[in-house]
Amino acid sequence: MLVPVVKVPTVEIAGSADRFPVRRIFCVGQNYADHAREMGSDPTRKPPFFFTKPADAVVSTKARLAFPTKTHELHHEVELVVAMGRGGSDIDVADALHMVYGWGVGIDLTRRDLQADAKKLGRPWDMAKGFDFSAPLGPLVVGAPPSTAAIGLTVNGQPRQSGDVTDMIWTVPEVIATLSTYVRLSAGDLIYTGTPAGVGAIQVGDTVVGTIAGAEPIEVSFAAQV
Ligand code: MN
Repeated sequence: MLVPVVKVPTVEIAGSADRFPVRRIFCVGQNYADHAREMGSDPTRKPPFFFTKPADAVVSTKARLAFPTKTHELHHEVELVVAMGRGGSDIDVADALHMVYGWGVGIDLTRRDLQADAKKLGRPWDMAKGFDFSAPLGPLVVGAPPSTAAIGLTVNGQPRQSGDVTDMIWTVPEVIATLSTYVRLSAGDLIYTGTPAGVGAIQVGDTVVGTIAGAEPIEVSFAAQV
């Protein structure tokens, strides 16, 4: 048996036929005070914490996804995502934005019921966060991300989440700098930078659209489990 070479997952680049190759996906937990509160946490400026998703969890916009297995509580979390064009270890906050290739709108899909169980039992979040097709991401805008921009999400046209990226507890440069003390960041790494309040459940048949001013939206819809 010959196993074919695994293809590198890629993300669309706005206005270009080129695509951005994905190396790894990192995510920040609870980076907006209002979301930290709705999850029952104290939104003080505790150091950011991180989790990961597999690179091939990325999904392009307009995808129709099978509803994920093993959950009765699939949640949406709209997030600003940065794509690294360069990297390093122990990156200075002042240098961080120079290493960013671009940014876009992502959705950190979460099996909230499995995450709640994992928290209760002190178990890893991988199966709650890092499942197949759990990281929808719209086309990347080349350049540094905005420090102020409206961020929102609708389900079937109804507003669910709305905020502004300026309300992040840890800014994008601070997130990059901190993450680079744990791992050596590289070109191809994506960082989902956290979600504002209003996370909620997605049902079979729903269409979910995430937006940030200045970028193309991310849109995904959910079919019955197959
Ligand atoms: Mn998230």
